[in-house]
Amino acid sequence: MTISADNSNKERVYIFDTTLRDGEQSPGATMTLEEKLQVAELLDEMGVDIIEAGFPIASVGDFEAVTAVAKQVKNSTIAGLARAIPADIDRAGEAVRHARRGRIHTFVSTSPIHLAHQMRKTGDEVIEIIQKTVTQARNLIDDVEWSAMDATRTPIEYLMRCVETAIKAGATTINLPDTVGYAVPEEYTAMFRTIIEKVPGADKVIFSVHCHDDLGMAVANSLAGVVGGARQVECTINGLGERAGNAALEEVVMALRTRGDAMPYYTNVETTHLSRASRIVSAASNFPVQYNKAIVGKNAFAHESGIHQDGMLKNAETYEIMTPESVGIKATTLVMGKHSGRAAFKDKLKELGYELGDNAFQEAFVRFKDLADRKKHIYDADIIALVDDEVGSIDDRIKLVDMEVVSKTSGVHRCVMTLSIDGEESEVTFDGMGSVDAIFNAIKQGVGQDPHLVLYAVDGVTGGTDAQANVHVRLEMNGRIASGNASRWATPVQSRAPSLVPGALRSASKSM
Ligand SMILES: [Zn+2]
Repeated sequence: MTISADNSNKERVYIFDTTLRDGEQSPGATMTLEEKLQVAELLDEMGVDIIEAGFPIASVGDFEAVTAVAKQVKNSTIAGLARAIPADIDRAGEAVRHARRGRIHTFVSTSPIHLAHQMRKTGDEVIEIIQKTVTQARNLIDDVEWSAMDATRTPIEYLMRCVETAIKAGATTINLPDTVGYAVPEEYTAMFRTIIEKVPGADKVIFSVHCHDDLGMAVANSLAGVVGGARQVECTINGLGERAGNAALEEVVMALRTRGDAMPYYTNVETTHLSRASRIVSAASNFPVQYNKAIVGKNAFAHESGIHQDGMLKNAETYEIMTPESVGIKATTLVMGKHSGRAAFKDKLKELGYELGDNAFQEAFVRFKDLADRKKHIYDADIIALVDDEVGSIDDRIKLVDMEVVSKTSGVHRCVMTLSIDGEESEVTFDGMGSVDAIFNAIKQGVGQDPHLVLYAVDGVTGGTDAQANVHVRLEMNGRIASGNASRWATPVQSRAPSLVPGALRSASKSM
């Protein structure tokens, strides 16, 4: 099967990535400014058309992140989200002002259930709000997207009035989201068809889909919206997002690419970046990717059964509808060892898509040598984990200096830990029901706070008992969530002990 790169008879679909806004809103997925910039740079490089960088009015941090992304990004349009409130719109306008191409994305609820219970407004009042807020946004910037929150549960006649109002007020993109993940594909197609056919001025704007995965239909619904006439898809890397998440960017893009015969549309996304984007977002958001996740899961291209393997050996097309290389997965080969030098390491990084500055390279090389001293076979995945981890580590206030854990099949588990807090070292000892319990009890005692452990997940970067371990930790205290993620050698090494303490306790600013 050959995939045609000929897009001449296909229509362009714009990819609007909202990993940094909708994705970051999922509890625990808070990213630091550095991480957001790293993700934005990657999305820009990939050819994502629009990057929604945040919700500027939500917090100073959000405002600063949108501003920084707007300044950094070279090609993509940068969108800032705003409620239908004048102060929100001004703030969003201010944040995206520095972008080469900026967009204000303003939204208001349109469904009866939202109007009655959340907004306490009548239909006519909402129409007036749409007219005023879209006009305000258009006076600030040429590129304005308007969203009808909960569009799929809004009666079509009223939705048409809203859309017409937004278009007349100057909206250039109209987004009709399935906010609660309730739609089925046929319905969603029909909704777009009706609106595009009947609303005056619909031919002058781009329609957009934004689907949530509550019933597992986000990608199917997004594609159904495209069939109905939408030409922008809002999505996130790894399907990150509120509740069950958004439509996954990698799935939408690869579905259109692989089944261009059934769906005559194309995107400008360079698909060989997808695998790396998934890893970086997973590390930054601290949301592990499920093994059998389509396109980017560890097992997405693994053929285990004998029959499948036999077929694959004879001809890959027997069971493979797309190649691992097309999403940027390279065959896991034995690459490096303790005798590999600086130049070889630099070449390997380049091959894997990394360009590190001098200091970052030096630091990564030291860690590579450290790992090579202890682990015989170093695979691409080891190097990726080692480098990605480095990118995320910041000036942590709390550092783990030393740790000893005693675990027995019978009896208590004990952890002796030395922490450095703001440069001051102290040792604590704590017993627990198991080793994790003992470790976290020791941390609580050392730090003097009592957070609840929400998530603790460990997985091997590669196979083998000598594999590096990737550890994800999420803590919650008084509504604040802090996340940590580190890839380390499975056996704690005295000089470089695993960083189990989540970095600077980052607070999650909950918005919308
Ligand atoms: Zn959403």
